[in-house]
Amino acid sequence: MTAEVISLGCRLNLSESESLRGMLAGESELVVINSCAVTSEALRQTRQAIRRARRARPDARLLVTGCAAEIDRAAISAMPEVDGLIANRAKLDPRAWNVAPALPCPAAASQHTRAFIGAQNGCDHACTFCVIPQGRGQSRSRSMAEIAADIDRELVRGVREVVLTGVDLTAWGLDLPDAPRLGALVTSILRACPDLPRLRLSSLDPAEVDDELFGLLTSELRVMPHVHLSLQHGDDLILKRMKRRHLRHDALTLVERLRARRSDMAVGADLIAGFPTEDEAAHQANLAIVRELGIVHGHVFPFSARAHTPAARMPQTPLPAIRARAAELRSAVAAEHARWQQALVGTPLAVLAERDGTGHATNFARVMLPQATPAGSLLTVVPTEIREGLLA
Ligand code: SF4
Repeated sequence: MTAEVISLGCRLNLSESESLRGMLAGESELVVINSCAVTSEALRQTRQAIRRARRARPDARLLVTGCAAEIDRAAISAMPEVDGLIANRAKLDPRAWNVAPALPCPAAASQHTRAFIGAQNGCDHACTFCVIPQGRGQSRSRSMAEIAADIDRELVRGVREVVLTGVDLTAWGLDLPDAPRLGALVTSILRACPDLPRLRLSSLDPAEVDDELFGLLTSELRVMPHVHLSLQHGDDLILKRMKRRHLRHDALTLVERLRARRSDMAVGADLIAGFPTEDEAAHQANLAIVRELGIVHGHVFPFSARAHTPAARMPQTPLPAIRARAAELRSAVAAEHARWQQALVGTPLAVLAERDGTGHATNFARVMLPQATPAGSLLTVVPTEIREGLLA
């Protein structure tokens, strides 16, 4: 039995946890928490997961890796439940775990129809609210060959869709010879993996979408018509105080250009509610950009000050206001989603069936499927209604 790997946080952690399960095969008395510390809430959930794992496995060896093991090292290692920490940057190195490199073995069938593949790690930016560079270090890219090999392995395991992920995915290649851009990586994947039916991209920096990537997003059918923007806010002054590289106009222009070339493009975004110094007008600008961009897949984060960040030293927004504004943002996204879903009724959708009787369309709309639909099958569905919040 392989080690028990509990994954928290981002898609990059998910893909790394999958690698850890392979690498720690045979370590049955080991529990690993691949932790997250992006917000105070994420850190609270990490602690909770550690306590829960210890209760469930009182005799196992419990090791913690991930961003909390870097950012909150002292606090995590002081927990009585924890036997040790593994540095986040070393977690994919078998030597860090004192195990022999896993011998190549026939790839077991995947439990998933979609796989997250890490292409890039770390970050060279310094957004004023963010601790991720502290947890993951500088930006570094995996090679095209490594990524294509991972994808081929997943295709053998029965995966039909790959989600390319990273901390700052659009920075992929900048540290490689000739500094290729993300568009070049996507082109090479499509060429090297002709059997890959669907490629989806995780968060993109609105200021960093290169021309080749833009062309692929708007014309390549195997690249999903779905962009998730690391937008963070809809007010220019707040964006400047966050030290983001884009302004609201840049995001509006990008989405307008994408939709002009591919009308079914779905937009998702990360948004922060209650950033320090955010007044009512700035909050209204944040709400407005949800409608203006038609954000239908939204991750709304109530601001939480993280130690050793410039934003933690700014005048804080009162907690009740943070919570109320986060709720308003979530309602605005839910309203956009409902409008979008209604407009999809009667539209033929290419859907990838999952194991739970539902599936995802290319634009990431969730669709209810007939019970007997085999997981991993690709089918065209024309929804006739919305049932239990899903197209059906
Ligand atoms: S781009 Fe900004 S928000 Fe994203 S990981 Fe880097 S510092 Fe954090």
